[in-house]
Amino acid sequence: MMRFIFLGPPGAGKGTQAQTLAEHWNIPHISTGDILRQALREKTPLGVQAQGYMDKGELVPDGLVQDMVKERLNQRDTQSGWILDGFPRTVTQATFLSVLLQELNQSQHQVVNLDVPDDVVVARLLERGRNDDTEEVIRRRLEVYRSDTAPLIDYYRQQQILVVVNGNQSQEEVTNELKAVVNS
Ligand code: AMP
Repeated sequence: MMRFIFLGPPGAGKGTQAQTLAEHWNIPHISTGDILRQALREKTPLGVQAQGYMDKGELVPDGLVQDMVKERLNQRDTQSGWILDGFPRTVTQATFLSVLLQELNQSQHQVVNLDVPDDVVVARLLERGRNDDTEEVIRRRLEVYRSDTAPLIDYYRQQQILVVVNGNQSQEEVTNELKAVVNS
């Protein structure tokens, strides 16, 4: 079973790890942030609607992101598995996903929480220097993470599908731990 949800604060290294492991396992890496950034570049209606939220470090409304994920998970290449990176980010999205995965017969999955201390996350984000990584926006994204997304850790722990991996190690060490999760 190669279906994984990657949780963790912005700057935890979710994107990098998800990309590396998706290539390694030959399954799609589905990043809602990447899909939204592409929509933004292409100025599609979705991109236009999402831009204001993204620029401020706010979450794009659940409905928009949920439609996007539904469309993506309905594509054929998801049969072999997937890594979801950046979704779900709210309990509403998690509930939606659970129903969607049942419909798709893809219910069995694992959730990996990449655990990284706050100060490390802030330092990494400032270093990364993406367009939406100004100090004010970073602060807001962390607030939003704590209030809206962090509750998912308990949500998935209660479902007993949560695995915690220490994200405060070298990239290679984290990758190795994640590979070990699959074999366990
Ligand atoms: P990321 O690349 O995952 O850090 O996402 C960048 C930005 O895209 C976030 O700050 C949000 O504005 C938006 N975004 C990405 N995924 C979601 C999601 N699941 N729900 C709401 N907004 C999202």
